[in-house]
Amino acid sequence: MPGLDKFLSDLGECLSGTKTFRLVIEDALGLSTIQPLPHRTSQLKTETYRRKASEDIYHGLERESVLATDQIKDNRETLARLVRDAQKIVILSGAGISTESGIPAFRSPDGLDNIWDKYDMTKATLAAIEAEEPARAEYWAMHSELYELVFEKGVLANPSHMLAVELEKRNKLHMVVTQNIDGLYQASGLPVEKLLELHGTITKCLCSKCRQPHSRSEAHEVWKCGIPVPRCKHCAAPLRFGTIAFGEALNSSVLEAARKAMRECDLLLVMGTSLVVQPANKLPEICLDAGIPVVLLNLGPTPLDNVVDLHISGKCGVVSQYVLDHLTPTTACQEELFAIAPLVWSGIVEGINPCELKLAAFSYQLRKQKA
Ligand code: NAD
Repeated sequence: MPGLDKFLSDLGECLSGTKTFRLVIEDALGLSTIQPLPHRTSQLKTETYRRKASEDIYHGLERESVLATDQIKDNRETLARLVRDAQKIVILSGAGISTESGIPAFRSPDGLDNIWDKYDMTKATLAAIEAEEPARAEYWAMHSELYELVFEKGVLANPSHMLAVELEKRNKLHMVVTQNIDGLYQASGLPVEKLLELHGTITKCLCSKCRQPHSRSEAHEVWKCGIPVPRCKHCAAPLRFGTIAFGEALNSSVLEAARKAMRECDLLLVMGTSLVVQPANKLPEICLDAGIPVVLLNLGPTPLDNVVDLHISGKCGVVSQYVLDHLTPTTACQEELFAIAPLVWSGIVEGINPCELKLAAFSYQLRKQKA
């Protein structure tokens, strides 16, 4: 083995003192605490570096937030302020943002429906779909259920999707990178150029062999007539969806565009994802390593809970609505009116500009109803 021979010969020369060498010890945890012998001090160079986010995650360490701690009083308010201050926001989202619209996720905390409670995960792999008809039938049943929810049962986008639309209107949205396949971002009116669908979309259908596109609605009608796996009109091979199956590579240009968006943004908002599916779950590390603030909003635990700059445990739709309501900062005067409004409403304060106070009281009631 030439490589091994060279290594052994180099090692021999180093040990005999005829060759100088450099030994680099990477010690992410700082456990080595090397203390050189006095006559070796000049030969030892120690450099400290900020651990990469991947090292913190691997070692289960907490990462220091890039946000000053006194900024983090009310997590939702801190998020609203970060969103107000940012100009190039990227949203990385997952199935959790659509549960409030009525679409089950893969993995959710107790009490919520999950797709894997009903379907067999091992049958959703590319290998299984290519090999067995029963796996293909299960794949069609799972995707058709999702398709029916969105296109026949009228599931609607919720405030999590609308937050992206509103940020786009305000020229603050750099990109949405989603793992979702449900098409709800398009339904909410988000322009296609602002959306990267990492795992494709159920709105498209194509032949698994000749790759000819097929009408998704026609294929669905065929499936509803009792054909468990609709076939290609041209070559009779099984049809499949425009989604990425487990074990299948992502579209490389979409993935590269997602990485680029991470590098270019000034705030990353990660929402409704368990962050266990690769490579999407590695994208936030790009921002963390670059010192770009990362906010994580999710109900259940994720591997990034301790390394993000702000972690909000809550429902995406509820927190998104809060941010939507606070995109424009309220003035001190408005705050005063909001503070006094409940008193006016209940008749405690009398005799001062009733018209203005009544208006403030009305806004207060509206706010209270939305909260
Ligand atoms: P996941 O199912 O693994 O995780 C969803 C996460 O969202 C969980 O951690 C859960 O705690 C959280 N969650 C659920 N409801 C929430 C809410 N209202 N507010 C905040 N958090 C909530 O989803 P993932 O990480 O996106 O997994 C990846 C795969 O799931 C993707 O490949 C995606 O294509 C697929 N998927 C998509 C859809 C969809 O398009 N709607 C639905 C199911 C699965």
